[in-house]
Amino acid sequence: MTECEHSRVGREFLDSVSWPILLRRPAHDQCYCHQCYSSDLPDTLTVAGYTYVIPRGWSRFAVSVDEDFFNHHNVWKTWLNCYHGTSIDNARSCVEHRQLLLPNDITMYGKKLEIREDHIPGEQYVFTTPSIKYAALGCYGHTYDFRSPHDSKLYTIKVVLQCKQKPDSIIVQPETVGAREREIKICPHFPNEVLEWKTKHRSSVMIYGLLLQVKGEDAEDDSNLSLCQSINITENQPHESIIIPPQSASSNENVDNNPKSSPSNEAINNNSKPTRSIASTYRSKWASMSRKRAALLIILVVSTFLPIAALIIGQVYKNDCPMQPWIPRWLIIFGAMGLAGFSLIFITMSITFQRCSKDTEVGNDIGSYMFCLLILFFLAWLIAGSVWIFPANLEVQFNETNKKTYCHKTLYKFAFGLSLVQYSLIGVLVCCCLGNVF
Ligand SMILES: [Zn+2]
Repeated sequence: MTECEHSRVGREFLDSVSWPILLRRPAHDQCYCHQCYSSDLPDTLTVAGYTYVIPRGWSRFAVSVDEDFFNHHNVWKTWLNCYHGTSIDNARSCVEHRQLLLPNDITMYGKKLEIREDHIPGEQYVFTTPSIKYAALGCYGHTYDFRSPHDSKLYTIKVVLQCKQKPDSIIVQPETVGAREREIKICPHFPNEVLEWKTKHRSSVMIYGLLLQVKGEDAEDDSNLSLCQSINITENQPHESIIIPPQSASSNENVDNNPKSSPSNEAINNNSKPTRSIASTYRSKWASMSRKRAALLIILVVSTFLPIAALIIGQVYKNDCPMQPWIPRWLIIFGAMGLAGFSLIFITMSITFQRCSKDTEVGNDIGSYMFCLLILFFLAWLIAGSVWIFPANLEVQFNETNKKTYCHKTLYKFAFGLSLVQYSLIGVLVCCCLGNVF
C-alpha cells in the first residue's frame, strides 16, 4: 500500500530529529489522516468503559513497549488511552526513559526535571488528557516548521505522545488554560471540567505512540494558541478532583471499529480512555521554579534591611569604638556593599521575571550568579569582621571613660549580632544545598 503524505512527511521529520529507531515499532503505526481514516469512520470508541477520541488528522508512529509488562497488567484491555502534548525533544526523552518522569526526578543523564515556568506551581504530577484537542494546544504540543527533503515543500508538524494510563491512578480536573472563563469549549467530546488528568504514579502511564499532526503551509492552525496565554491566571484556582475508579477487565471488551488498525493497536485504542498530558510533567516545573524564586526574593528582602541598618549604625557611631575602629568601618562597608549588590540583583531579577523564558532555571539566571558573587564577598568580609569583633568581646566595655577598651554598646552588639546572623544564614544555605544534592 502506498504511504500517505502525512506518514511520509512524519517519517522524514523523525529522521531529521534522530528519533530513536530501535524504539520504533513500525508494524503498529497508524495514520488517521483524511486519506487513511475516512470521514464515515467513528470519531470516538469506547475503551474500558470510557470514551476514547480518535486522533483524527494525526499520524501515529508506534513506540515499542514492554510486552511482558503490558500483558502482566493487562494494559491494552484495561488501561485508558490518553495524550500528552510536548516538544519533540521531551517526547524523545520520555520514550528513551520509557515513561513520563515526575518533576524533581533526575533523568538518566543527571538532569533534574523542573516545573516549566509557564506551568502550575506546586503541581508535582504527570499530566495527561483524554482530549487530543487539549493536548494539541500550543502550550502543550509544540509545533515545528519542516521542509520535506522529498519535494522541498514546507509543513508544520505538531507533537503529542499517545499513552495508556491506569484508571485508578487518575485524578480528573478541569482545563487550566482559562477556557471556562471565556466560555470556550475546547473539545467537542469532553466538557472543559474533565480535560486534565494527573497522577503521581509514575509507572501508571505508558507511552505507546508518538502522534504527529502534519499540515501543509496553507493549512489552518486550529490549535488555539491564544487559549494558552491565560494559563497562569487559572492555574492557582482550586480544582475539584475526581478519581476515576478502576475498571474491571471483563467490562472492557475490545471493540475495534477501525478496520485499518492492526489488531493489537486497535485493541489499545478501543480499550483505553483518553488520558492526557506530558505537558503536565512540565507544569510542575513551574511550581518548583516559583518556589525557588519566592524563597530567593524573601531572602533578598530580609537581607536588604540588614545592610541599611548596618550602614546607619556604622555611620552614626563611626568614632565611638576606639578599641577597634574597624568595627564601624566593617559595618559601613557591609551596608554599602549589601545595598549596592542587592539593588543590582533586584533589577536583574525583575528583568528576568519579565523575560520569563520557558526553560530558564533559577540557577542559570544572571541574578543567581551575582548572588553567588555577593555571597563570596560577604563570606570573606565576615571572616575579616570576625577577626575584629569576636576577640574584642573578651575585654570590651561600654563605659566611655576608659577609651582603650571602649566601644559603643549599640554599635558593638549590633556588629556582634550581625556576625552571628550571617553565620546562621550560611548554615541554612549549606543545609539547603546539601538537601538539593542528596
Ligand atoms: Zn495518512
